[in-house]
Amino acid sequence: MKTAYNFRMYPNRHQEAQLELTIDTCRHLYNLALADRKNAYELESISRTYEDQAAMLVAEKKDGNFKGIFSQVLQDVLRRLDKSFKAFFRRVKAGEEPGYPRFKGDGWYKSFTYPQVGFKLDGSKLTLSKIGTIRIFKHREVEGRIKTCTIKKDNLGHWYVILVSEVEDVSPIEPKTAIGVDVGVKSLVALSSGETVEYPRYYVKAEKKLAVAQRNLSRKKKGSANRRKAKAKVAKISQDVQHHRDEFLHQVSKMLVDSADLIVFENLNISGMLKNHHLAKHISDHAWGKLIQFTQSKAAKAGKVVELVNAAYTSQKCSRCGIIVPKTLAERVHRCPNCGLEMDRDINASLNIRTLGLRGSAYQDPTSTLSKPSKQVRSMT
Ligand SMILES: [Zn+2]
Repeated sequence: MKTAYNFRMYPNRHQEAQLELTIDTCRHLYNLALADRKNAYELESISRTYEDQAAMLVAEKKDGNFKGIFSQVLQDVLRRLDKSFKAFFRRVKAGEEPGYPRFKGDGWYKSFTYPQVGFKLDGSKLTLSKIGTIRIFKHREVEGRIKTCTIKKDNLGHWYVILVSEVEDVSPIEPKTAIGVDVGVKSLVALSSGETVEYPRYYVKAEKKLAVAQRNLSRKKKGSANRRKAKAKVAKISQDVQHHRDEFLHQVSKMLVDSADLIVFENLNISGMLKNHHLAKHISDHAWGKLIQFTQSKAAKAGKVVELVNAAYTSQKCSRCGIIVPKTLAERVHRCPNCGLEMDRDINASLNIRTLGLRGSAYQDPTSTLSKPSKQVRSMT
């Protein structure tokens, strides 16, 4: 399991100059390598590979070029270019808008990477080869072995380091307790324990603020100074909203992993559901996929299991007797005319999800095993 840690860096003036120089040299190399690929193809019909260009870089370094920059950082630039070409060819093949890789102007190249070595983390000090030892704000401990180190400058001119580390997964324990999680239409989630989790009020408030700012932006004239200001405001608020949401999803995923050994989610086809207008807002806002992802990463560290099950029928089926009780999205309560069970529709769904998870992901169509189609009943509301 890989984890990315993002820490603010506080370089001194001399170090900042070195960082700037590195970024600028990388940008220069990127553009040179792009021009080389373009020319080789247009003039000689030669398709350059990463290996070709890496060999050329070695020769350049021997000639005394690209001095003062760590070799692997430069190689990573060539690898990035190679990736964008591969993506370009994939898009061409898929018949999509191809978007040929672009030359990077000043300010359009913002990061560089130490792909394996050349950096060292010691407490809140980060040592970068050819740059020096820089103070960082380490707000959490880095677990596992650090694989890559990327240095980035944001639009405000702040410097960050992104460390990607890998932790070996703990081998899973035999699950003794299980919890089913249903995506709520009204709340974030409904749990088979009978609880629902609502969004905190500050998040809802920030979201409203964002909607106002977006409306404000849409009224501004294109190219005007006011529009630029409104745009910056939208960017700032949406960053806040995202930050709040991630923090919240971290809390909820921790709560889920703490609450049971087996956590069962619906395997929603998110892209399919986004086409449905009524559900679209909830799915995207609630970042359902992100919650599952956070839960999976926490579970992997704790030796717990996350199971994704087929969501078909989970909201229609009665969690007590198994009969199908059709209902529209507007019907909030599950009322079973067969066994009399009456409960919140989402809690009923989460109980079904839990049952499916306990059986393993092998899902069986309830209409063929538990009830014949002729036994289906209409909801009475
Ligand atoms: Zn029933």
